[in-house]
Amino acid sequence: MNTSVPDISRDKSTALFEKAKEYFPGGVNSPVRAFKSVYGSPLFIERGDKAHLWDADGNEFIDFCCSWGPLILGHNNQEIREAIQNQLGKGLSFGAPTALENQLAELILTHNKKIEKIRFVSSGTEAVMSAIRLARGYTKRDKIVKFEGCYHGHSDSLLVKAGSGLVTFGETSSAGVPKAFADETLVLALNDKEALDKVFTDYKDQIAAVIIEGIPANNGLLIQDKAYISYLRELTASHGTLLIFDEVITGFRLGFEGAAQYYDIQPDILTYGKIIGGGMPVGAYGASKELMSCISPDGAVYQAGTLSGNPVAMAAGIAALSILSQPGFYESLKITTEKFVSDLREFIEQKQYDVQIFTIGSIFWFAFSNNSSIQRADEIDPESMTNYKVMHRELLNRGIYFGPSGYEVGFISAAHTEDDLDKTKIALKEALNIVFQ
Ligand SMILES: *Cc1c(COP(=O)(O)O)cnc(C)c1O
Repeated sequence: MNTSVPDISRDKSTALFEKAKEYFPGGVNSPVRAFKSVYGSPLFIERGDKAHLWDADGNEFIDFCCSWGPLILGHNNQEIREAIQNQLGKGLSFGAPTALENQLAELILTHNKKIEKIRFVSSGTEAVMSAIRLARGYTKRDKIVKFEGCYHGHSDSLLVKAGSGLVTFGETSSAGVPKAFADETLVLALNDKEALDKVFTDYKDQIAAVIIEGIPANNGLLIQDKAYISYLRELTASHGTLLIFDEVITGFRLGFEGAAQYYDIQPDILTYGKIIGGGMPVGAYGASKELMSCISPDGAVYQAGTLSGNPVAMAAGIAALSILSQPGFYESLKITTEKFVSDLREFIEQKQYDVQIFTIGSIFWFAFSNNSSIQRADEIDPESMTNYKVMHRELLNRGIYFGPSGYEVGFISAAHTEDDLDKTKIALKEALNIVFQ
């Protein structure tokens, strides 16, 4: 059996956090960073290189949060850094078109046949918000359907959770969202055909779009059945409803065509973020030429951005996606991840611990459960998060940085070496021994 190792020093991080709390609500600029559901106060990061992070106290970690997904090439990637440096001498923003936007678009559109035209924005939230407006503008309908357990950023119509019942009007999941907005959003459980049938019967000809994370990865990793997604595709098409695939996490993570490729379907609108900017703030949405012609200045759906297509961010995106487009990139990352997961599964099986590792591509998620096919949000036991909290602390103390919530997935980047992963496996085994002792 293993015993806990001493806690790492957090003196400098803690002092910085105390200061930050004077400046920012909760001391952070995005809530999950606040370490509310794990031990201690947040670590203030000073720098990253490859798969490693260093905090203000000088502690070193192998990073599996990877900035919540964007860093598929790890930290401080040389090509991305040089592309940014090269752009810096030419100016930061012009509010006018640049050739860089064409280059990034060309790189994407030649490797991603699910979209014909694209519009760059500055975040995933903005991409999704714009996609919803496009769907409403095109269909001239107002209602949208989303799924419990999918996150689509923080715009009003999507900060909505399920009430009780098979098909429910959303209830706002944040103060400040008008009830009238929530009433336009219907919320269903994932992987449930019956609920889909019912919503299309109850709200016939009223639903502009169904939005889904192709592979929901913001509330555990809830891999959907292929048959269910095909059914969703057919049903939406037969009702004149658009299918929006929110690929802000899965886009360029599973491949250039993301989850749409995995399920072999053609969604109507796709949204991107995270990886697309190589670590800089970029989002995008794309669709057929016909749908995209509805966007201003071609069409009547207004959408704009002062810093959209920002040249420095475009340069970073071009450098990142150029590497990802090389043959074999995704296959090799997938093989690395599968090996990591299968070694750990072997250990878990041998010990008979009630923990599952779900994985797809280079994404993985630890669920403290005996259910090996979790596909819906309500199948995740909130009580199990106390186990995650123990594991998270033990991992940090052993130099392994996982996201500070058990609902969050982990990412393996191309910068993770065999040595990094071997060290992580040892730490994880020790941490699990402590969780289950
Ligand atoms: C991260 C994420 C968003 C929001 O993107 P931001 O850049 O944080 O605004 C939207 N949808 C999905 C699926 C995401 O993972």
